[in-house]
Amino acid sequence: MHWVGDGFPVRSMFSYADGPELSPFLLLDYAAPSHFPPAEQPRGVGPHPHRGFETVTVVFAGEVAHRDSAGNGGTIGPGDVQWMTAASGIVHEEFHGEAFTKRGGEMEMVQLWVNLPSRAKMSPPRYQDLRDAMIPRVALAEDAGVVRVIAGSFQGSKGPAHTETPVELWDVALQPNGELRVDLPATNTKIVLVRRGELRIDGAHTVAQNELVRMPVGAGALSLRATGNGASFVVMAGEPIAEPVVGHGPFVMNTREEIETAVRDYQAGRMGSL
Ligand code: MN
Repeated sequence: MHWVGDGFPVRSMFSYADGPELSPFLLLDYAAPSHFPPAEQPRGVGPHPHRGFETVTVVFAGEVAHRDSAGNGGTIGPGDVQWMTAASGIVHEEFHGEAFTKRGGEMEMVQLWVNLPSRAKMSPPRYQDLRDAMIPRVALAEDAGVVRVIAGSFQGSKGPAHTETPVELWDVALQPNGELRVDLPATNTKIVLVRRGELRIDGAHTVAQNELVRMPVGAGALSLRATGNGASFVVMAGEPIAEPVVGHGPFVMNTREEIETAVRDYQAGRMGSL
């Protein structure tokens, strides 16, 4: 566990430094539930840049406020998602929301970094403010649970997120012994983060709370079944981007030269400022 600024105690579940196996995903930080006492000054992380990918923030508890050099901003709360496409470059800050700071409480969120293909890495930045009410909820048969479709589609319900390459992002809650059948292209990367409870994959593998599992390459249909206490988890899947990944901290490009350019552009203020 480490802190992002003074606001987000996260576990880095994976990072692009580990290798290309999880493409199109680059990094996943999980801030498991933690309690913050009331405070005067919002905690968080001050202005910093990103280039070449997207940051996707999903809030489960608490409030996250964002402001960026493209002029976008907003405060998101439980159930809301912020899909920020840094692309050619952005400077932003991420703090606890004002109201949450004053009253204190529980914070739980994830931040997922989604890579962009080379053709989109230098596109203008974009910001998608995806509120809970915009995100379809699919009730599973036999009262097995609910799937919130943030990106991609499930049983005909399409998520509101616009993605550059095919990406699925589902927030799932299963009742005790409830089952979710996942049927996605065999070539897709498929990973699951368990936030609560415990999951059995194809009746063979158990995944515990706070664990991340990657489905084997080539797996098509999968059974995810909650054990006796139910389970809440995040399903992330996508078509791998078969391009070189060269990263340096908050910049992820295709070549070393592009990274050097990113560092220079940031230092020269070409990614903007707050
Ligand atoms: Mn950031």
